[in-house]
Amino acid sequence: MVTKYIFITGGVVSSLGKGITTSSLGALLRARGYRVTAVKIDPYINVDAGTMRPYEHGEVFVTNDGAETDLDIGTYERFLDIDLSRGNNVTTGQVYQTVIERERRGEYLSQTVQVIPHVTDEIKRRIRKAGEEAQAELVLVEVGGTVGDIESLPFLEAIRQMRFEEGRDNTLYLHVTLVPYLGTSEEFKTKPTQHSVAALRGYGIQPDALVVRSEKPLPEDGRAKIALFSNVEARDVFNAYNAGHVYEVPEMLEQQGIGRFTERRLGLEKVLPELHVWQDAVRTLRDPEGRVRIAVVGKYVAMPDAYLSLNEALVHAGIANDVAVDVEWVPAEELAEGDLAASDLSFLEAYDGILVPGGFGVRGIEGKVRAARLARERQLPFLGICLGMQVAVIEYARTVAGLEAANSTEFDPYTPHPVIDLMPEQLDVDGMGGTMRLGSWPMQIEPDTRLAALYEPGAAGVVHERHRHRYEVNPQYVESLRAAGLRISGVTPGMEGRGAGLVEAVELDDHPFFVAVQSHPEFTSRLMRPSPPFRGFIAASVRRAKERPAAREVAGDVATGEAS
Ligand code: GLN
Repeated sequence: MVTKYIFITGGVVSSLGKGITTSSLGALLRARGYRVTAVKIDPYINVDAGTMRPYEHGEVFVTNDGAETDLDIGTYERFLDIDLSRGNNVTTGQVYQTVIERERRGEYLSQTVQVIPHVTDEIKRRIRKAGEEAQAELVLVEVGGTVGDIESLPFLEAIRQMRFEEGRDNTLYLHVTLVPYLGTSEEFKTKPTQHSVAALRGYGIQPDALVVRSEKPLPEDGRAKIALFSNVEARDVFNAYNAGHVYEVPEMLEQQGIGRFTERRLGLEKVLPELHVWQDAVRTLRDPEGRVRIAVVGKYVAMPDAYLSLNEALVHAGIANDVAVDVEWVPAEELAEGDLAASDLSFLEAYDGILVPGGFGVRGIEGKVRAARLARERQLPFLGICLGMQVAVIEYARTVAGLEAANSTEFDPYTPHPVIDLMPEQLDVDGMGGTMRLGSWPMQIEPDTRLAALYEPGAAGVVHERHRHRYEVNPQYVESLRAAGLRISGVTPGMEGRGAGLVEAVELDDHPFFVAVQSHPEFTSRLMRPSPPFRGFIAASVRRAKERPAAREVAGDVATGEAS
């Protein structure tokens, strides 16, 4: 079969949910049995997302091969249930870097190097390569940004050229726009969509279909009007209205015929999609057996997208346990300073579980240490992720192992007990981009641990998880931590040139659930395969919720800000 390309552009405003639209269509095509891959184009000049602020740009998603990518890559992985890699996130930075390096090597043979054709050729090369590497029958290509942005012009030009080169039956243009609803006149406004389609046409691209986002379902006459003005048939105007949950979107679009449209337009066989996973998930999300409340003690709590994969992993684990997970973001700094520090943090006991996520920098660290201590001492289910594990180790070292003022050298370079220290291979790293320990690494799981029961790793005891860190548990302190009762439940098997393996996971024996890992298992969590540590954490939280029926009311006070 020839590879076919589906290009997704966006208009009117940013943050339209283009990633969800792309992912949902991908899920519907996967549900029809196709080999699908997805490419995200980010028109910014950064080479990758690794150097960008999570509280501005959302989380940095990490692939198996260690690329630091846009969070949409994570959404594609979750919706399509596939593993993506470095080549699936194309940025202006990468494209220009390649073109300029080629120019310096003299590969353009004295030509004038220009946006058209040299930059657009490089863009097309990268899109095609991603398809080839995945041996995909269908490649979804999402162009980030909004039509009209200066930055996205070369990309729009490249995808325009691809229709010529690949043929009309092998390319499809889908444009995602917004139809606002004006409360005052009680009307849906289609004008911005008309303008956006006109702008796209100005670049030589006539969309084959539109997905219009709206707050409420769009009435039939709105669809007809958009069709008329944009040269798209009314039946090819799909409406993604606000859903209760993103996992409802694939079926919403399928019911309107987007799958059938794609088959028709690309000359694909008519197939009935297998949508059980989505339907079951949505059923549980709408009508769960129970609820648990989880406190996530983190730094970027004002920007939930900064923890997107973490949030989704909690949703997956909730579905597996037939509960809805109510996540509350607790700003770590406030647990160490200000009003809350005066209290004994006991308000956290109203939650069913405490999670300390990954992060960088000293801000909020002492609050996280205190939260870990409370969870340990008061028998609250605890899950520590990456920095969350480092914090749990610092707390244990200080309070139980008697290593006073123990810390990570990331936060206190002069600590008397550097229980967390820079990994040796990080010592002579000077660049910032892509220089951490990144991507998938093996973890050897100790038998007879909670972790082993969760992962069921088989005879070899090895599983793989993705990583993104510079620091590790200092091997010099492993013995004293162990002697003080900390269970090392996972290590990196036989690191080259180093005696002991890195500590990958710790846990506590006499505790309902206290598990912390150096990796980021949230990156590989899927609806169909929830991450084992998350599943176990939520299961423990469910047990606690059942034991303590009063917990919810108390936590309710916290949510309304009444606790101090
Ligand atoms: N800042 C810590 C480190 O670099 C933890 C990183 C993380 O949580 N992703 O090791």
